[in-house]
Amino acid sequence: MPVPKETKLYDILGVSPDCSESELKKAYRKLALKYHPDKNPDAGDKFKEISHAYEVLSDDQKRQVYDRYGEEGLSGDGGHGVNPEDLFSQLFGGGGGFFGGGRQQQRGPRKGKDMAHGLKVSLEDLYKGKTSKLALQKQVLCGSCEGRGGKEGSVKSCTGCNGRGVKIIMRQMGPMIQQMQQTCPDCQGEGEVIQEKDRCKACNGRKVATERKILEVFIEKGMLDGQKITFTGEGDQAPGIIPGDIVIVIEQKEHSRFQRKGNDLYTDVKIDLLTALAGGPFTIPHLDDRVLMVNILPGEVITPGSVKAINNEGMPTYKAPFDKGVLYVKFDIEFPKPNWVDNSKLAILETVLPPRHTVDTPMDKHVEEVVLSEVDTSRQARNQPVQDEEEGHGPQVQCAQQ
Ligand SMILES: [Zn+2]
Ligand SMILES: [Zn+2]
Repeated sequence: MPVPKETKLYDILGVSPDCSESELKKAYRKLALKYHPDKNPDAGDKFKEISHAYEVLSDDQKRQVYDRYGEEGLSGDGGHGVNPEDLFSQLFGGGGGFFGGGRQQQRGPRKGKDMAHGLKVSLEDLYKGKTSKLALQKQVLCGSCEGRGGKEGSVKSCTGCNGRGVKIIMRQMGPMIQQMQQTCPDCQGEGEVIQEKDRCKACNGRKVATERKILEVFIEKGMLDGQKITFTGEGDQAPGIIPGDIVIVIEQKEHSRFQRKGNDLYTDVKIDLLTALAGGPFTIPHLDDRVLMVNILPGEVITPGSVKAINNEGMPTYKAPFDKGVLYVKFDIEFPKPNWVDNSKLAILETVLPPRHTVDTPMDKHVEEVVLSEVDTSRQARNQPVQDEEEGHGPQVQCAQQ
């Protein structure tokens, strides 16, 4: 092979001037996918450049001219004006061969469907971050025939339907002639045919194969429920389309101890009465390996249902993990059991707790002493549905008041 006059077009595709046709095609395929304006709108004229280079080099005659005379030799030979989009879809169309197909091309390649997968993630993993492996099945272009379905050049446009995949047939219906569109029986609507002997053995002419794909999903710290992670172009491959994306949707699992609102966390903590009144430590095992030790200061007095905040111990902020939300702690106070101490000792409490409120006994009313007893839960349950009239006042209550 003589030394080519220039190699610019080869350089654009990143191939050597003695590359084979299939190497050329592979290089173009890769670059075209990368720089297609649908995928990479900022790439400017790169897609056109790649397409032009491929258009020339994939044509034997033009390639010879180019090798001998450089781009100068090509001007005026009618090699221009090919729409890069058409070139792209023809190649990705697989069928018909390059420039050969009679199949009508849509303008520009279609983009395949995006595929969404839910991924259940624990709150711990959203706190700490994690790499998850996700296995899925996807369709890929057959590696043996590069998605053509058969040997190079063996794929012919169907003559029965002129590559359209459908046929118009006429049918006499009484006095009327009905026109009907029918899937072409010669090519089963494919628009192209491959002779049995040329058919790719690996995919049996189907052009695609099923492949098990492992995706590494990087769960970043602070990601939210419903957040999407997109794997561009990882969707099902099929001839003639740009593969869609695989979209992983984070589904935050419920946690037994923490609720999350945005970057803030909420947790319930039960402390004993002595700690609530006199102070002392309690702990909160966190979402990482740490245990938070909290000290209630003597004299602080924690009341049942009260909420306190621990700053910077909530969830990390997505993309700014050192910036954390607030951890809100809601207190439940564990009171002592009945008769927890000898009654005589209760007098000690009177010396330290605030004094009892005075009991109001109005002189103009009859004051009657009644007894507190345990609630009969079965009775409560029975009375529950009768709430319509009188705002829950059962007849017994009324009797007692009279
Ligand atoms: Zn046909
Ligand atoms: Zn194949």
